[in-house]
Amino acid sequence: MVKKIGPLDIYNYLPKTNCGECGEKTCMAFASQLIERAVKLEDCPTLMKPNFAGMYRHLEEMLAPSVKEVVIGVGDSAIKIGGEEVIFRHELTYFNQTAIALDVHDEMKDDELLERVKYVNDFRFKRIGEDLTLDLIAIRSTSNDPERFAQCVSKVSDEAKKPLVLCSWSPSVLEAGLQIVGDQRPLIYAATKDTWEEVGRLAVKYSCPVAAFADDDMAELKSVANALGSMGIEDIVLDPGSHVEGKYFSNTLGNFVASRRAAILNKDVGYPLLGIPATVWLSEEGVETAFKEVMIAATMIDKYADLIILHTPEIWALLPIITLRQNVYTDPRKPVAVDAGLRRFGDPDENSPVLMTTNFALTYYTVASDLESAGIDCYLLVIDTDGLGVQSSVAGGQLDAFKAKEAIKKSGIEDKLKHRKIIIPGFSARISGDLEMQSGWEVLVGPRDSSSIGEFIEKKWS
Ligand code: SF4
Repeated sequence: MVKKIGPLDIYNYLPKTNCGECGEKTCMAFASQLIERAVKLEDCPTLMKPNFAGMYRHLEEMLAPSVKEVVIGVGDSAIKIGGEEVIFRHELTYFNQTAIALDVHDEMKDDELLERVKYVNDFRFKRIGEDLTLDLIAIRSTSNDPERFAQCVSKVSDEAKKPLVLCSWSPSVLEAGLQIVGDQRPLIYAATKDTWEEVGRLAVKYSCPVAAFADDDMAELKSVANALGSMGIEDIVLDPGSHVEGKYFSNTLGNFVASRRAAILNKDVGYPLLGIPATVWLSEEGVETAFKEVMIAATMIDKYADLIILHTPEIWALLPIITLRQNVYTDPRKPVAVDAGLRRFGDPDENSPVLMTTNFALTYYTVASDLESAGIDCYLLVIDTDGLGVQSSVAGGQLDAFKAKEAIKKSGIEDKLKHRKIIIPGFSARISGDLEMQSGWEVLVGPRDSSSIGEFIEKKWS
């Protein structure tokens, strides 16, 4: 088993002068930040000097993630996949979330094709302050005709604002697509045991990442990946085959898990994984198939897929997938927080209610959305509780009467109001007495669930 690298291991190869030019006070602090990927080796000017070249190379090797980070696309829309260092996210964090592609094919009618491309471009769902989007467009050649594929790729690339995946088993079809978009760094899908040499040559010629495929055969997949590697190709993605039926699906997941464990525990064939829930549509049709695709996609996200290709565009199918992805890829070390301070809702005046909540993003956005939908003109005082929700912060001491009193003062709300009355969340009732004493404000204990805040204000606010 490979030993995890700690700050001391890194520190041993740093200049150890504590000069501070990197922005950190000490070389040890810089070492810790390197492990967190918050800084780069290049941020240490001393390390960039020729006499440190050996140390630099050694550190580069030590810090390379177990799963290679692969970039698909160019410019602002480029997507990074892989780059992971741990099996369980709580051991460190996951760095790059599963990228999601929606498929199109070269036998689609033009209007349907372009509508789908536009849909991927524009797809955006806001949750906990974050825009959740689709990331790529996978163009499949169903015609197996190079000319037709090239035409389709050309039409898609004219409209697409997302990176592309070019999908065909035929190297000549892939090359026809690459002649159109080879400079946009699409992912080439796929090289097999029979085509790795031709497809590998295309990846080298166009400097594009390439997917290695073997159908439920991990030894063969490793050998295709190694063959591509022997051609000098570094940006490889692994597709161990996506079988979606019963025990075959369990084999697929087993392959995903085995591959990730091998990459992280044994530093063996460490490349990002590609899953294709859309294969479910090869044998079935109808709404139930879409449900099945959602379940497969969710399971693949849970089990290390770095990129998935979907077919179902309906919002009800995509929402559970993208919200699950957001949850899995939220950094467990940092509670998702919003800025503390005073917020206005609607058009509040000197008699308007003042409510209080914490800066845990999920709590804040839930309360904000309930206030907006109730159409209440009010102020909301957001307390910095280190990103914890109401119950946890009251229990842990991040929210107490003193902190709330200080937040009231600092917010300047007293200059905006004629009254001195605040509504606190039901789950923070135990600070109400202390808060009244310390602040001199009248404290109303509001509902535990912010969805009833409209009704509460109507009845209790005079
Ligand atoms: S710039 Fe380099 S030598 Fe100076 S403190 Fe940072 S890591 Fe150490």
